Amino acid sequence: MMDSQTTALTRIKDSGLRITKQRRTLIDYLCQQSNHYVPVTAVDAHMRTLYPGMSHDTIYRNLKEFAALDVVETEVQSERSVVKIQCDYQHPHHHHFICTNCHRVQEIQLCPEDFFAQQLPGARITGHNVELYGLCADCAQTQSPADK
Ligand SMILES: [Zn+2]
Ligand SMILES: [Zn+2]
Ligand SMILES: [Zn+2]
Repeated sequence: MMDSQTTALTRIKDSGLRITKQRRTLIDYLCQQSNHYVPVTAVDAHMRTLYPGMSHDTIYRNLKEFAALDVVETEVQSERSVVKIQCDYQHPHHHHFICTNCHRVQEIQLCPEDFFAQQLPGARITGHNVELYGLCADCAQTQSPADK
């Protein structure tokens, strides 16, 4: 069983991309926050602090390449792009439960597409984005409803 970091680097190498110091740093950084979405702007700032010569374009291109390999997951939350390391290499298509308090991201494997398709006879669904929000089990325990 390989850890997420090893799996990511193996996949990048197998795709023919070179494992540069920068690419490795990028993966390390995302693996350190493996249960959270990180704003792309924060990734950019982190990388440019470590590698002042690295351009925004290169950083964004690296993230795009990683996303194409399913090594990272990207999405837009409240109009900002966010990225996280892949939760599940076996099931790159999955959904999330995101805690609104600690922002932890938990994987949900069940995909509701068939359920939606049944309600749209004749339609051709080309994509979907389903995420659940709320308090994770830990936060729900420490936040009683009266605290709100
Ligand atoms: Zn995920
Ligand atoms: Zn939480
Ligand atoms: Zn789905």
